[in-house]
Amino acid sequence: MTPEPPRDCPLCPRLVAYRAENAAQHPEWWNGPAPSFGDPEARVLVVGLAPGRTGANRTGRPFTGDGAGVILYETLLKTGFATGRYEARPDDGLTLIDCMITNAVRCAPPLNKPLPIEEATCRPFLIDRLAALPRLKVIVTLGDISRKNVLKALGLPASAAPAGHGVEAPVGPYVLLNSYHCSRLNTNTGRLTPAMFEAIFQRARALIAGTR
Ligand code: SF4
Repeated sequence: MTPEPPRDCPLCPRLVAYRAENAAQHPEWWNGPAPSFGDPEARVLVVGLAPGRTGANRTGRPFTGDGAGVILYETLLKTGFATGRYEARPDDGLTLIDCMITNAVRCAPPLNKPLPIEEATCRPFLIDRLAALPRLKVIVTLGDISRKNVLKALGLPASAAPAGHGVEAPVGPYVLLNSYHCSRLNTNTGRLTPAMFEAIFQRARALIAGTR
């Protein structure tokens, strides 16, 4: 495996069929595995669950073009993990600093819900993504399924880093820092406020302070 799947990765039949369905309806969309985005020397890796159909599946950049991306990129800009302007398109020139964004499952699933077998099938790419970041210190997981996928990728049980917003735990050579997912559902209902989300990245900043 490699950290990034090929554009035509054939490994998950249901997701391949969904890509083809979307490509038939919207040939101008990306309709492939969303590549990780950011700094290859990142000390902070943000791990989402899977691309949204009209987000990364459309634009080809994680969280770009969907509601969750607005708060994610604005928060990264505010906390110094990004520079430029987020304009919801992959050519907006936004650059991540010391940060990378990836997804546990790289292809958009129907109804935003990957199957456990699809999480398992895509996991080798996550394992290699982690391994390919030589300076990685902090893994920010967005939501509980992301948390579990990262722990599995590290060969650890779900109990190795408990659930909950702001909960952190050492996992191998890294610190896992868990956040509620920045979905529109969570932000619209106030389950996740901008201040709560910003605090996650301020904490990530504190955790990497003094590391190289
Ligand atoms: S989800 Fe991952 S393993 Fe499955 S087809 Fe997409 S890139 Fe390949």
